[in-house]
Amino acid sequence: MLPDKPHGFMTFNRQEPELRPATERSKDFQEFYKPLSSEQVQQQAYRCMNCGVPFCHSGCPLGNMVPDFNDYAKDDRWREALEVLHTTNNFPEFTGRICPALCESSCVLGITNPAVTIEMMEREIAEQGWSRGYVQPEPPEKRTGKKVAVIGSGPSGLAAAQQLNRAGHTVVVYERSDEPGGLLTYGIPNFKLDKEVVFRRVDQMKSEGVEFRCNAEVGKNVPVSELKDYDAVLIAIGSTKPRTFEGMNVSGWDLKGIYPAMNFLTQQTRRVLGKSIEDEDILATDKKVVVIGGGDTGSDCVGTSIRQGCTSVLNIELFPKPGDARQENNPWPQWNFSLRTSSSHQEAPGGDCREWCVNTKSFEDDGKGNICAINTVIVEWSEPDAAGRRTMTEVPGSERRIECDIVLLAMGFTQPEAAPFSEGLKIELEKNRFGQGIKADAAYQTSQPNIFACGDARRGQSLVVWAIYEGREAARAIDLQLMGFSDLPSVNAFVYDTVRAIYSEK
Ligand SMILES: Cc1cc2nc3c(=O)[nH]c(=O)nc-3n(C[C@H](O)[C@H](O)[C@H](O)COP(=O)(O)OP(=O)(O)OC[C@H]3O[C@@H](n4cnc5c(N)ncnc54)[C@H](O)[C@@H]3O)c2cc1C
Repeated sequence: MLPDKPHGFMTFNRQEPELRPATERSKDFQEFYKPLSSEQVQQQAYRCMNCGVPFCHSGCPLGNMVPDFNDYAKDDRWREALEVLHTTNNFPEFTGRICPALCESSCVLGITNPAVTIEMMEREIAEQGWSRGYVQPEPPEKRTGKKVAVIGSGPSGLAAAQQLNRAGHTVVVYERSDEPGGLLTYGIPNFKLDKEVVFRRVDQMKSEGVEFRCNAEVGKNVPVSELKDYDAVLIAIGSTKPRTFEGMNVSGWDLKGIYPAMNFLTQQTRRVLGKSIEDEDILATDKKVVVIGGGDTGSDCVGTSIRQGCTSVLNIELFPKPGDARQENNPWPQWNFSLRTSSSHQEAPGGDCREWCVNTKSFEDDGKGNICAINTVIVEWSEPDAAGRRTMTEVPGSERRIECDIVLLAMGFTQPEAAPFSEGLKIELEKNRFGQGIKADAAYQTSQPNIFACGDARRGQSLVVWAIYEGREAARAIDLQLMGFSDLPSVNAFVYDTVRAIYSEK
């Protein structure tokens, strides 16, 4: 029997979906967990305390109304739960699978107990919605006669396109790849996000009236002049230029066998989708793999290498190992910076394959132009100075030669690949903490009128949840510009409007 709501968190413990056994899941590219039963999911919804001040709202960039959807879910009211979720998030089935769950770091229950399983609830609510037929096309009642071009179909472009179309504008999405979805499709591996989950959302958008033009790279096979046909243009091209060792004092950086992670990951998704591979095959099968970079991309390279049957995999990271729990300078409700271990890291033969504070010094040639080893050294990091900068020092005698057949570079991305058209459109770039992004103001307006930018292209490499947020906010800014008013929702506008209303009452 289920308890009354106020006692839910005292009755049930946090329960996450069980992972499929590592030996089984590492042999295929299917999603890696087993779903919970409906009863278990409802029990997790009961754990949400319906806090007077729900910090999870502000922990999530989208302002997801977590207590409200959990309350409906606990009562088996999936349609209402989904409606609440959709008011702030176009694609909860994406964030419910791959978000690091910023909201859970700020869950009030998390101060003393394991936080509510908010991410899992999102996925369950979305999947209930899809399987029960609650997710249907929502075309606009009338059209405004305005046309908007969205360049790029990652989560930011998709969210913006859906919002703008629902506001009645005619939306055309240009995508240079052969499939829509951006990094959701060709980036994040299938075992984290099944591609059918992306494509069914794209189908919903097509039924709503959004036009997708794939194999259409603006600035290459689509002339920039074509954009003059639109009332507004939104640039959502991501930030996909990989960081490499080029220009650094690391010899051998261009040997054969050293690849940017995305080349490797994209090829594998193409294989899963039964598509051809035009370039040289990059495979980890029967190879000793070194992955450089300890973020999501590095972890995805580890999981993919294991699935391809590598003989060994090592994941090295320059920065220090995070602590096992929150540090004093990282209190609740901030994002919790403690160590995270992905399902891929758990799959590595011989246990966790990560090593920290490892700097790459050089790559060795086998005499035929192929990589055969990487030379590294351990570094120590100083405490941050007043400006937050830390310096690294090599530890004498810690040099090491690691034999390998393939090296995957997962060291982040420096800037959008905007070169083909940034000049044609005369948009400006500006510095950000990773390199460069498209310059845009708080209303997502670039240096050119009626040309907007959002997502990783503007803010630098980030997360799917931030991309959806920026897409939604940019859509509202464009709608405002085109119509002089907007009924599209906005987290920022909601906060400002509420504060303004409170003050005007006083
Ligand atoms: C391997 C990997 C794993 C990740 N894992 C996670 C994760 O687990 N959780 C998470 O939250 N985030 C993750 N991220 C980050 C997340 O995927 C990105 O932050 C997010 O996809 C950015 O969305 P976006 O729409 O701004 O850009 P993108 O998703 O990069 O989409 C941009 C699109 O624009 C297209 N494009 C570019 N130029 C043109 C042009 N000239 N004409 C037409 N189209 C163009 C590109 O082909 C692409 O489809 C991961 C990233 C990578 C690389």
